[in-house]
Amino acid sequence: MRNRRSALAVIAAASSLALTLSACGQSGEGGSEENKGDAKGSTVGIAMPTKSSERWIADGANVEKHLKDAGYKTKLVYGEDDPDQQVSQIENLITQGVSALIIAAIDNKSLDNVLQQAKDADIPVISYDRLILNSPNVDYYASFDNEKVGQLQGQYIADKLGLADGSKKGPFNVELFAGSNDDNNTKYFFQGAMSVLQPYIDKKQLVVRSGQTKLNQVTTLRWDGGTAQKRMDDLLTAAYKKERVDAVLSPYDGISIGILSALKSDDYGSANKPLPIVTGQDAEVASLKSIKADEQTQTVFKDTRELAKVAGNMVDSLLNDKKPKTNDTETYQNGAKVVPAFLLEPVSVDKTNYQKVVVDSGYVKASDVN
Ligand code: BGC
Repeated sequence: MRNRRSALAVIAAASSLALTLSACGQSGEGGSEENKGDAKGSTVGIAMPTKSSERWIADGANVEKHLKDAGYKTKLVYGEDDPDQQVSQIENLITQGVSALIIAAIDNKSLDNVLQQAKDADIPVISYDRLILNSPNVDYYASFDNEKVGQLQGQYIADKLGLADGSKKGPFNVELFAGSNDDNNTKYFFQGAMSVLQPYIDKKQLVVRSGQTKLNQVTTLRWDGGTAQKRMDDLLTAAYKKERVDAVLSPYDGISIGILSALKSDDYGSANKPLPIVTGQDAEVASLKSIKADEQTQTVFKDTRELAKVAGNMVDSLLNDKKPKTNDTETYQNGAKVVPAFLLEPVSVDKTNYQKVVVDSGYVKASDVN
């Protein structure tokens, strides 16, 4: 038993929590079927990476809402993409006596010491969306199927170019972008995309004119759109004087918008120079608008409302001595242990289905996109 508890509190918490969770219709997902214990009322610390991207603002709000609905208090902090700041924020949360931590890491290798402090204080840790590496003190991992995200992006390119169904043979020019090298998701996204694209590259149906095909050549520190824009500018200058780029693998909407700025500055999108296929991730409003305007082509929608529930339910289970629900106990080796995970499914979104998948589901408001 992690916390002090009384029989009365157990009964009160059990009924109230069960009510709240069933009212949300989510008792079966990522959490225990029945909940009891007096962890209710304790404060859960939530450390998010940055407010510079909509998705993390939504993640923070959704995790807070879910936990509050379940009777917990919350403390939410944002590290503004500064790993040192995130470490000290987590230290503060530990000092303030939080009962559990939900962490979306900025630098996945910088948290070992602070997680040891959490362990010493008997505070369970959920690695949120991004796997924290090299620490045995990560209890559970809540995320999406990250490799699948990359596969959806790669497959979209192969389908749209007509390579997948054999209707076109190419060769087509493609350039590759990946996420931040300190984010463990980056390699999964890239591997997933390359599992689809590499065979076409090998057959010369896809050509990477820059020659930059290795992950360490194509990463984008802290997922920064400006950095991606600059790299795309450089690629266009160096490798596309006469040739045209037909597709760009982009791992995240903020990067896609940067890439599109570089392309538009080089006259792409004008009558004789169509924009290439540009993928993305997160279904951010700016990118949905861009998709609607026939600029960005695709994004990958990950319903962070669901992720928030999974993480919240994991905390609730752990604080009540229940085993959180998992659906992957093999894939996520963090260097110190295999972290048991619950993975959600990402969905490919383009102009044909964004309304149904992202707007009609209430994830973004129609008035924001239109
Ligand atoms: C997340 C993506 C996000 C990226 C940049 C990744 O860890 O999984 O959804 O696009 O970080 O914020």
